Order: sequence, then C-alpha cells, then structure tokens
Amino acid sequence: MSAAPACLSCGARLTATLLDLGSQPLANSYLAPEQAAAGDEPRYPLHARVCGACLLVQVEPVVPPEAIFSDYAYFSSYSTSWLQHAAGYARVVTDRLGLGADSLVVEVASNDGYLLRSFVEAGVPVLGVEPAANVAEVAVAAGVRTDVAFFGRAHAARILERDGAADLVVANNVLAHVPDLEDFVGGLHDVLRPRGVLTVEVPHLLRMLAGTEFDTIYHEHLCYFSLLAARDVLARRGLRVFDVEELPTHGGSLRLWASREGAADAWPETTAVARVLDAERAAGLDDLAGYAGFAGRVEVLLAELRRFLDGARETGQRVAAYGAAAKGNTLLNAAGATTADVAYVVDRNPHKQGRLLPGSRLPILAPEHVATDRPDYLLVLPWNLREEITTQMAGVREWGCRFVVPVPRLEVLP
Ligand code: ZN
Repeated sequence: MSAAPACLSCGARLTATLLDLGSQPLANSYLAPEQAAAGDEPRYPLHARVCGACLLVQVEPVVPPEAIFSDYAYFSSYSTSWLQHAAGYARVVTDRLGLGADSLVVEVASNDGYLLRSFVEAGVPVLGVEPAANVAEVAVAAGVRTDVAFFGRAHAARILERDGAADLVVANNVLAHVPDLEDFVGGLHDVLRPRGVLTVEVPHLLRMLAGTEFDTIYHEHLCYFSLLAARDVLARRGLRVFDVEELPTHGGSLRLWASREGAADAWPETTAVARVLDAERAAGLDDLAGYAGFAGRVEVLLAELRRFLDGARETGQRVAAYGAAAKGNTLLNAAGATTADVAYVVDRNPHKQGRLLPGSRLPILAPEHVATDRPDYLLVLPWNLREEITTQMAGVREWGCRFVVPVPRLEVLP
C-alpha cells in the first residue's frame, strides 16, 4: 500500500475519504473520433479525501496542468446565464472599489475574456492571464489584453515590473484547479496593491454536500472549498477574507473578498463571514465526522439513475442528454452509462460537437439534432443550468419528450 497523499494546502497526510469513484477517464478530455478508434483512454483514480488538519477536500493531482489547460475546449461565452453573472459582478465590484481609468484589474484564468470585456467597456484597464493559447486568442481579438501563461509567483513578478500592482485581482473558478496553491495564491498576494482587493469564486463545499452534487468531482477539479478551508488556504499566504457572498452559480458558490493581512482598516470584516462559518459548523464541516454520510447518498443517487436508464432501455424508450460538461462525465461514468443507455449528447459549443465524451463515448451533436431525432427523454447533465436549458429546449415537449434532472435526486419533469 502506498503512503497517503499530502494535503495540497498544508501538507498533512490525507487519511479520511469523502468519496472514492474508482478509476475514471479525465472529464474534460473530449475525444476526436480517430482518438476513440485508437482504443481506451487512460483512466486515473478519482478519490476525494478530506484533510484532517485544514479541512480542505481534494483529489490527488494525476495529470500536469499543461495537459488539461493548454488546448481547453471550454469557452465561457457559450452560456447566456454565465455572461449575465459576469456583467453583474463587474458592475458591483467597480462601484465598491471605485475603479476607473487609473486602476488595473488583473484576472487569472481569464478564459475568452468574457468578464474583463465588461471592465474594458467601462474604461478600466485590464490584463488577463490565460494558459490556453486558443482561448486567449479569442480574448485578444475581442480587445482584452491577455498574457498566455500559467499564473504563479514568477508571472506575478513579471506583471508587477511591466504593469504595476493591481487594484483588483479576480480569480474565478480557477483556485479549485490549481495543484500548487503555495505558488498560485502567493502570486495573487504579490500582484495585489497593499490596499487592493482579491475576489475568488469557488463552488461551495457546503452546497455540494447538501445537494449530493458529487458530479462536480473530477480530476481537473482538485479542491472543494468550505469557507473554513478557503480562509485557511489564503491565510497561510498572507491574505485575509473580509467578506463572502453566497452565489447560485455552479450549484452554489462562494465569492470571497480578500485583502492583504495589513489592510483590515481599509476592509473591515463583514458579518457575512461569521454567518457562513456558523452555517458550515452547524452542518458539521468543522469535524471529519460531518463528511461521513455523503458517499452513501451518492450511492443511492447512482442506483436511481441506473434504474431509470435500464427501465427506459427495456421499454424501448430513447434517452438523449443535454450539455457536454465535465460534471456530466463524472455522472455518466460513475453510473456506467454507454451509448446503449443514452444515444448521444447535444451541446451548443461548436468546439465540442463532433467529438465523443470520455468514458461513456457518447457522440456530441448540435442541439438541433434533438428535433429531428425526437427522443423520449432528455437528460439534463448540467443540472445547475436546468432553468435555462428547459426553457431553451421547451420545444421537445411537442412530441412528449420529458426532461430528466439527475441531481440532487433523479427527477422526471412533468
Ligand atoms: Zn490540509
């Protein structure tokens, strides 16, 4: 037996299991048909553990970030509700910090520039840092200055020398993907002005556990944050959380507002911090015992899904899926689904169409295909976008097709 892995934040040995999903392919490795024909894709252990010392939930890094992010197929701009979320954030933070033409906003993992565009339009200078060259290209074409780089202390030093320190540093939905927290969070600290503000958005572990959102667990998603754990991750690198918001995105996220340790006078702690910490303690997240029931609830959810898929197949009813998102892959593969259960998946993102989902090998088609094929059920894989998707695809009800939402419990909509 190999030694227990070390915590990505504090280095303690990880001995407590949250959920062990066995051996799974990488959730974001969409396959071209010729790759699929070449044989099975590699599988790696997908085992979520809780750190007994700092309470950070994490899976072991199995692939270098270069393999995941260098040609990332994820373009944020393909989700309407996501764009609205970004524009709303830009307005709020611009007001709160009084950002203007003399400010600098740095966003790490800036994707296709969808968020920074709002600042550019408001006349606030920006810099994006994005490791995927193909995605960064889209941002630059849209007028968003972007460095193609992995962010860390070295790149922070380069920014400081060339552009100076930032008034606002944004790290949305990236912290969970970072294997070297020391270097990455250290870089966030370094690039910040002494009284500057860092905002970080991460899916909230409390919501994941309460909503049985186990499908947000995949290899590229290394860490799963409670406020208790996130506060510790930042504090170890000289940053303090002074405010927190609970957001509906990704099934329930936290937006942390942080400053350097010495800036408490400029940014006093709000009551929201104590309120969220209290809610986490009430749910038992300050103690390893509070994490124990999750795996059993996941087992029940998977059994229900399996029963539904088997039932549909036995009665000759056709199931298609909507949304080729990473979380769908965890769900399908944990349930052992194949094209015998779900004929195909449709997705609006043209970069994903024509490829196959890893593991399940479902072909990814354009959403229009549903209208010609007329399946009996449409399984909504990104359940966090269920309102948006059931509205967009409402036409399927014409031929009696029913939406199926798998999380938190399997639900066949009327
Ligand atoms: Zn730890």
